[in-house]
Order: sequence, then C-alpha cells, then structure tokens
Amino acid sequence: MPTTLITNATIWDATGAAPFAGALLVEGNRIRSVTASATGPLPQADQIVDGTGKTLMPGLTEGHAHISFGDAASTEDLISPSPEAHTLITARMAEVLLDQGFTSCYGASAAKLKLDVAVRDAVDAGHIPGPRIRAGSTEITVTGGMGDESKLHNPRIGISCIVDGPEEMRKAVRLAIREGCDNIKLDVSGDPFYPGSPAHVTPMSFEEVKMAVDTAHAFGRKVNAHSRSIEGTKHCIRAGVDGLFHVEYADEEMLDMLEEARDRIVIAPSIGLFHSMIHYGEPWIPRAVAEAMGIPALIEQSVTTHTALRKRGIRHLIGGDYGLAWNRQGTNARDIKLLMDYYGYDAAGALACATRNGGQAMRDEGDLGTLTPGALADMLLVDGDPLADVTILQDKNRLAMVMKDGAIHNIASGLCAPAASDQRRVA
Ligand SMILES: [Zn+2]
Repeated sequence: MPTTLITNATIWDATGAAPFAGALLVEGNRIRSVTASATGPLPQADQIVDGTGKTLMPGLTEGHAHISFGDAASTEDLISPSPEAHTLITARMAEVLLDQGFTSCYGASAAKLKLDVAVRDAVDAGHIPGPRIRAGSTEITVTGGMGDESKLHNPRIGISCIVDGPEEMRKAVRLAIREGCDNIKLDVSGDPFYPGSPAHVTPMSFEEVKMAVDTAHAFGRKVNAHSRSIEGTKHCIRAGVDGLFHVEYADEEMLDMLEEARDRIVIAPSIGLFHSMIHYGEPWIPRAVAEAMGIPALIEQSVTTHTALRKRGIRHLIGGDYGLAWNRQGTNARDIKLLMDYYGYDAAGALACATRNGGQAMRDEGDLGTLTPGALADMLLVDGDPLADVTILQDKNRLAMVMKDGAIHNIASGLCAPAASDQRRVA
C-alpha cells in the first residue's frame, strides 16, 4: 500500500493531548503511526510532506450538513431545480466543503430524496471529489408542521415528506432506507420560519418519533431530529434518537436527560444560522424581519441551554444550515469560533467538537476524527496554529494540505516530494 510521511509538523491529535512536534505515517487509507520527534528514526515512506511551521490536525466534520442546499435564498430555490440540475448543485457543494477542510459531512436533510445518496456514491466510487457523506433523507414532518407548504386550496410539493401516524412514518423511513439514505431526518418541533408551528411547539407525536427510531435502527441507520421545543427534545431522548439539531428551549429535567444520554446522542446547535440572520441577513432577511421572527430571543435561549450542556459534557458538533444565501456553503468553519463566543468553549474544546465528536457521529467504529494509529487518514495541514486562532480554518489558503481517506485532495506546491533514498533520518 502507498505510504505518505508528514514530517516536522506540530501535531494536534484531538485526543485531549497537548500538541507535540512529530511525524505521522499514512499507509493506504489509515494512519499507521504517530511519532514524537524526540523518539528516534522516522519510518520510510513513498512520499514525504514537509510540515515545517504547520499544524497537522484531523479533518473537520460538518455536523448538520445540507449539501444539496446551493446557497438558496428561499424554500422555492430548493424546490424548483430538477433532480438532474440539483444533483449537479449537490456535487459542486460537496467539493466546496472538501476544499474548505470538511472531510466528513453528517447529513441532516436533502432537498430531494436521492441527492445526498447519489453524490455519496459518486464520491465513494472516486468519480467526483467530496467528503465522506452520511446521506440524509428528506425532512419527514407531519401535516401542518414545519415544511408542510400546502393549503387545501393550494396543494404544493415541498422538500418534506409528510406523514401522519406511526404506520405512515414506518413506510416513509423504510422507503428512505431502501433508496440508500444513512441518516433519517425528523422535524419534531416547530420553527420560526413556520408561523403556524413556531419553535416552542411539538407537532410530531412521541409514537411517530419512536416508530422512526425503531424502524431506522432495525436497518442499522441513524435518526436525527430538528427539535427546538422542550417536549420535542424529551420525545427524542426517550425514543432513542441519535442526533439532535438546535435544542434551544430547555428545563432542568431535559438537561438531566441529555446528560444521562450523552454517550449515545450528539447535538449540533447550528448557531450559525441565527448568527447569520442577524449579522448577514440583508437583503434576504432584513433585521426587522429576523426580530419579528423572534431570532434574538432564540439566540439567548441557545446560549443558556448549550452553555449548560457544554458543562455537562455533551458532545456538540459544529455546523448546521449552511447552504443558504446568508449562510453560505463553505463558510461552515465559522461555527468553531461561534461555539467559543456563544457557549464558552476554549479553542481545543471547540476544535474537538469539529473533529473528534464529528468522527464519532460519522462512524460507530470509533476510528475517525483523531490522529491516532489505526484511524482513517483524514487530516489537514494548517499554515499556522489553529489553537491560537481558530479563524484561520475559515481561509482555505491556510490549508496547506487536505487529505481524505489517505489520498491528498489539495496540497500547496512544493510541500510533497518522493522520498529520497537517504530519508531514514533522525528528526
Ligand atoms: Zn437543517
């Protein structure tokens, strides 16, 4: 198997260890060894990447990915493209994310059922560039819930699958799984974009959520839920949901339940969406509209809840709802700084959310998201020190190398060379 040695880098491995100077050997698609500089001769390799002055860290995971959202300005922009045109948009967004250091995408929903599936399969086959993808289903909601765009006099097909009752839920989940989805997406609570079902209400019943979870788990797939309401989040925890998105409203019982479930649930707060609506919403969402939707109050709720959850050891993910005109695909690494600014994470903690926690969400095998021997070789060589300034990860020009699955996707010129015969030397 081909081998690549990255030498002389500062290695931040996302295990909780302090950064150290060293070298890392990739064999095939996995990390073979990680060697501190002081410990002796370097292993041989087919090619050498010079990491001098740079930081080697795990690749990023977008924890609530909508790769089929091509910077849409409205729901209509998600509905109107044909499946053929939309597939091309999705493929382009996948490449944008990988270019920005996102080597994994944990799928939330797709705008059409097979967009994530088709692009995942093309990426896995090596036909197009892109991250690892857990393909999301369409949103599954209930009549009158978030995503139901119809009225009696004006029936409309939106981006959601609408079910009522456990049996319709069972059918919808099985269908999504048959068509290749890895992650099932439920809209359990309401949302500020839907005045008829605002954020604090819970249109989806516990029985519907439970049916979705039991059905998906029977196939070995995961279920993620949009939940902003207290009751919705409690439904999800009790039903065995794997991932939660948003989770603003909380009471003490809900926080206790989440703490108890922290080893089996991950949470992407997706603060970037509301942050962007307030700061970059013009011209699509004027400030007055965002205020009328109650966004500032929801941000306050998010800060209170997720600061508390950070202290309780919840595994947060970064990302969420990028791919909108005011929250563009590719700017997702901004979430690392937002986790620090809004929820009180330090840099290493926020970076662990972006890497280690993301890897755990992507794969139950526990072999993604850290730079440790045996792990899958997804990593970034960063020009500078992201622990001193996490915002450098927002600039793809600072990513001297993006490696996914042991293969170099992008690398700065002059950094990589075939190994010379005298490469065996002491660092
Ligand atoms: Zn979303």
